[in-house]
Amino acid sequence: VVWAGAEEGSGSTEVPGSGGTVRGFLVPAGTPGFSAPEIRRKMSLRASVTSELVLDEVRLPASAMLPEAAGLSGPLSCLTEARFGIVFGSMGAARDCLDTTIGYARDREIFDRPLAAFQITQAKIADMALELGKGTLLALHLGALKDAGRLRPEQVSAGKLNNVREALAIARECRTVLGAAGITLEYPVMRHMNNLESVLTYEGTSEVHQLVLGQKLTGEAAFR
Ligand SMILES: Cc1cc2nc3c(=O)[nH]c(=O)nc-3n(C[C@H](O)[C@H](O)[C@H](O)COP(=O)(O)OP(=O)(O)OC[C@H]3O[C@@H](n4cnc5c(N)ncnc54)[C@H](O)[C@@H]3O)c2cc1C
Repeated sequence: VVWAGAEEGSGSTEVPGSGGTVRGFLVPAGTPGFSAPEIRRKMSLRASVTSELVLDEVRLPASAMLPEAAGLSGPLSCLTEARFGIVFGSMGAARDCLDTTIGYARDREIFDRPLAAFQITQAKIADMALELGKGTLLALHLGALKDAGRLRPEQVSAGKLNNVREALAIARECRTVLGAAGITLEYPVMRHMNNLESVLTYEGTSEVHQLVLGQKLTGEAAFR
């Protein structure tokens, strides 16, 4: 599915400020001019294929246009759904990091004491548990709003922004507790950390979610 600006007269809704319109198009993979070269040498989400989507003079029949999704509400509602999942998924990655780290700190002995018995380690674990708990409660609260049909896009922005940012901070802090072992694939922490770097960027970058919240709070749109 490709969301693209369409010309006047295509029955589309105006996009404010762009002078154009947005429609969804189904582009069969074999369409002449379409290619999806794989992006190699990734440091994040290495187990999945990520492709560049190239559309070079692609021509489609009118039937390729999604009939009902006209205007930005179509792509934005798809994004709101995907971002909602990320609000939970990011906390899952953080929980795995913290579980791994607590287990490691209990087993690892330094100066004849478990690493878990040192105050700084406990302070790190306590702070991470707080952020994990707050983010999980936020996710559950947004889920309850969704069930009640009252979830608004900017609330999903707040959840995505906060939970991915905090999950990444937890993964980085967990990596410090694991010491040199933290940079290996023996533990899942750095894998989660690198994958969360993609999550920080896709489904709306952190900066763009800040702008969404900034617009809602101030009434001023700082982006177009
Ligand atoms: C693994 C992976 C999978 C992806 N899968 C998909 C997919 O399935 N479908 C899809 O459509 N896209 C996908 N993306 C693309 C992703 O949505 C974009 O990378 C993302 O929207 C950022 O766009 P960009 O990379 O062009 O960065 P740019 O738009 O060039 O942004 C660069 C930096 O500038 C900041 N910036 C941009 N505009 C503003 C502004 N107005 N004010 C302040 N700061 C700004 C951004 O936040 C970012 O920090 C994927 C990306 C990755 C990494």
